[in-house]
Amino acid sequence: MYRLILLGPPGAGKGTLASALSVKFNAPHISTGSIFRRNIKEGTPLGMRAKEFTDRGELVPDEIVIDIVTARLKEEDTAEGFLLDGFPRTVHQAEELDRFLESLGRPIDKVIDLVADEELLMQRMIGRRVCKSCGKIYHVITMPTKREGICDVCGGETYQRADDTEETVRHRFEVYQSQTAPLIEYYRNAGKLLPVDGSGTPEDTLKATLSALGV
Ligand code: AMP
Repeated sequence: MYRLILLGPPGAGKGTLASALSVKFNAPHISTGSIFRRNIKEGTPLGMRAKEFTDRGELVPDEIVIDIVTARLKEEDTAEGFLLDGFPRTVHQAEELDRFLESLGRPIDKVIDLVADEELLMQRMIGRRVCKSCGKIYHVITMPTKREGICDVCGGETYQRADDTEETVRHRFEVYQSQTAPLIEYYRNAGKLLPVDGSGTPEDTLKATLSALGV
């Protein structure tokens, strides 16, 4: 079991890879984006605050995200390992995460950096659909549901994320470049970075990840 971070630009496949690794390692998959989407759907105070940022493709303020993740990492099921998907996204979040995990004596083991070309990612995101009920990710061309608009796994309704429109996706790339990409250097300097090709199928990416981890 590992304590892993999945890093990479929007659409690189962090969520899909994290789901697969979570099954393989029997470790909790912690996705800050999913936590926000769930809270937005339920109309909680956190959801209402987050929505003004997520809809525009902006980052939710560090303090909010750090509190959510540290609270989640205090839960017992993360003691043996976990997969962080979409967190950290700024150097400040990474520093706070390091500080927190060091205080528990459970530092991050490795950071998987999913690498893929921006145009490919753009196509992936514009065609992406997500199940409203279970969160399973599809693509209208490369991974369609068997029945249009209906999740194969749970029968829930699939939808396009509000932030997966072309204009918002372009903005999310800019935000990634300016605020999140510096984490590549941060984790390389820490000797934890494992670059993995994210341009193939989900199976290719999973295989490449397991081989990078030496599993
Ligand atoms: P994701 O599903 O990871 O693409 O996240 C969707 C949106 O949630 C992002 O575009 C941000 O608005 C917000 N978000 C998720 N994780 C973070 C984070 N670590 N820091 C700030 N905002 C985040």
